[in-house]
Amino acid sequence: MIKEIELNCTPSEAADSQSIERLVASNCQIEVQEINSIEYLRRSIDARSKQPKIILRLKVYINEEPPERERAIDQLSRVGSKRQVLIVGAGPAGYFAAMELIKAGIKPVIFERGKDVQARRRDLRAIQQEGVVNPDSNYCFGEGGAGTYSDGKLYTGSKKRGPVKQILQLLVDHGANPDILFDAHPHIGSNKLPQVIQAIRETIQKMGGEIHFQARVSDFIVHEGVMRGVVVNDEKEFLSEAVILATGHSARDIFDLMGKNKIRLEAKPFAMGIRIEHPQALIDTMQYHQKPRDANLPAASYKMVTQVKNRGVFSFCMCPGGLIVPTATAPGELVVNGMSMAKRDSKFANSGMVVAIEPDDLQELKRFAELRCLQFQRAVETAVFNFGDGSQAAPAQRMTDFVKGTLSDKLPSSSYIPGIYSAPLHEILPGRITESLQIAFKQFGKKYRGFLTEEANVVGLESRTSSPIRIPRDREKCTHTEVDKLYPCGEGAGYAGGIISAALDGQLVARAVAAREF
Ligand SMILES: Cc1cc2nc3c(=O)[nH]c(=O)nc-3n(C[C@H](O)[C@H](O)[C@H](O)COP(=O)(O)OP(=O)(O)OC[C@H]3O[C@@H](n4cnc5c(N)ncnc54)[C@H](O)[C@@H]3O)c2cc1C
Repeated sequence: MIKEIELNCTPSEAADSQSIERLVASNCQIEVQEINSIEYLRRSIDARSKQPKIILRLKVYINEEPPERERAIDQLSRVGSKRQVLIVGAGPAGYFAAMELIKAGIKPVIFERGKDVQARRRDLRAIQQEGVVNPDSNYCFGEGGAGTYSDGKLYTGSKKRGPVKQILQLLVDHGANPDILFDAHPHIGSNKLPQVIQAIRETIQKMGGEIHFQARVSDFIVHEGVMRGVVVNDEKEFLSEAVILATGHSARDIFDLMGKNKIRLEAKPFAMGIRIEHPQALIDTMQYHQKPRDANLPAASYKMVTQVKNRGVFSFCMCPGGLIVPTATAPGELVVNGMSMAKRDSKFANSGMVVAIEPDDLQELKRFAELRCLQFQRAVETAVFNFGDGSQAAPAQRMTDFVKGTLSDKLPSSSYIPGIYSAPLHEILPGRITESLQIAFKQFGKKYRGFLTEEANVVGLESRTSSPIRIPRDREKCTHTEVDKLYPCGEGAGYAGGIISAALDGQLVARAVAAREF
């Protein structure tokens, strides 16, 4: 017999398999020995009361064996070279598109400007320790894309966008912790993601796919409105039936290239602000109402949103127990983002706090037409960099001083390795962003006791929340609306906003290519 049940237990009960068995037996009115297997369907935390509870949804196999599951990757077979498609970018969109093409019997040929996931580490160290930004290998560029050395939060708001579970299963098949299949807020961690990405690459290669690293697409080959191929590293031409463009939100040279080739782009709403960093213990107390937090509870997170002057102000990519990292993609820019390790055990909690920006808000940049959001992003990143000493050290301010508009004489410690320095961020940021954040912080402080505190730093600049450009594509065929056989895909094209949604979009576009081109 199979029974689905819900258990409401303490964190220590949830962490102990024998306690769970006893609770399951009691709930199902059976003996523990009758339980053959327990499958977790969902695990979430209810922290509304003084004592947080873990809510488990379980499938219990009573005197019955669970079915054997076939791994999705075991269903793939090796592809030949007859039918091939070029993919630009080895981020989640590019790699999941590649696996989907293989499923359809098509060989993916991937070009990635950055290095493989291991070699990439050295360049990340150079940004962190020497402030040197390699424009082809950094926190956004390189195997696995922006997601690899990020955080690996795997939740997505895009419920309608296809089988999220199938993406999670593919990640598990490639070495991710199976808990991501049932956790309400699944997370892999920066220290575990690279192995998963490497395993995905090995699957693609084993199945006949080709991957070229340090292969920057430097031009497009377009004839009479049809995409025929790409030029790599300014020298070698590659032709194909179709090109999937999955270059992420920071590939500004690709947007420039599209301008040069007169390929239509659109300005897209995006968001900009700062990263805020609190002591993790303070967030734990705020969310779990206990100090210190129960050892069986994960580092607490939060999600905040409000409206100021008709524009959303919201927390973005919250990293409990995490670090702030430098995510510029070219020298002369200062951009920060967040990440965390699998254990989320740093003593800091950070998140982006950003203000939504519509293209129409940037009237003063109208002359840049569809590139105006990108231009604004670029200008503020440069201004923030130029305020400093030419390193990747980031300007910062106590949260309370930012709200009051005064300089901080001393800053709380921070996880940001290149270092922070006291600066009038309220003056460096564009006025509309400062004002909206100041109002929002006061509102958040009223709603969440302890959140508006002098113990928190605001650190600039958080500007790569999503792509400031959309590459228009046909809803059904997924091709560019004007250039046939060009398939814009993932976050850079404006169709995803995170690892899972980018992976889903990669699959969607690959299926469209398979249906249409072969
Ligand atoms: C620090 C950080 C933390 C993040 N944390 C999370 C998180 O926890 N959860 C989450 O869901 N999302 C997170 N994100 C966002 C997430 O990483 C992206 O949404 C996702 O990676 C987008 O996938 P993509 O494949 O569309 O593009 P990308 O991942 O950006 O991949 C694009 C790839 O294209 C390559 N490329 C660019 N131009 C060229 C060219 N000319 N030629 C060849 N290759 C090129 C790039 O090198 C890159 O590898 C984070 C991002 C950052 C930077």
